[in-house]
Amino acid sequence: MKRFKCWLRRNLWPVWALWLALEWVVWGVRWLMHRRPSLPRDFYDTEAWRRLRYQALRRSDGKCQCCGRGKRDGAILQVDHIKPKSRFPALAMSLGNLQVLCRDCNLGKSNTDVIRW
Ligand SMILES: [Zn+2]
Repeated sequence: MKRFKCWLRRNLWPVWALWLALEWVVWGVRWLMHRRPSLPRDFYDTEAWRRLRYQALRRSDGKCQCCGRGKRDGAILQVDHIKPKSRFPALAMSLGNLQVLCRDCNLGKSNTDVIRW
């Protein structure tokens, strides 16, 4: 009996260590998923985003929806998420959540402002 207990102590700790490591991995994955809600890091490089961006530019006739200036007036146009994608990742690819702003107009808008022009 004493020998058996000794054997158990010697052979059980790898199992316990393995279980602990597995738990760590599960928690690590869960933490990563929580940290990055489904949007790729290079979101603005994706084909889908470029296509959507083009649609938004066409819809606005290539003009800033705030001040009405276009490329010919020297404005740098940017397609902006009305509801920021960092807070509303589900709306990141929704055309209805996009607006075209020139850089000057967009600069005044922060991530907390969700105004629709
Ligand atoms: Zn503008």
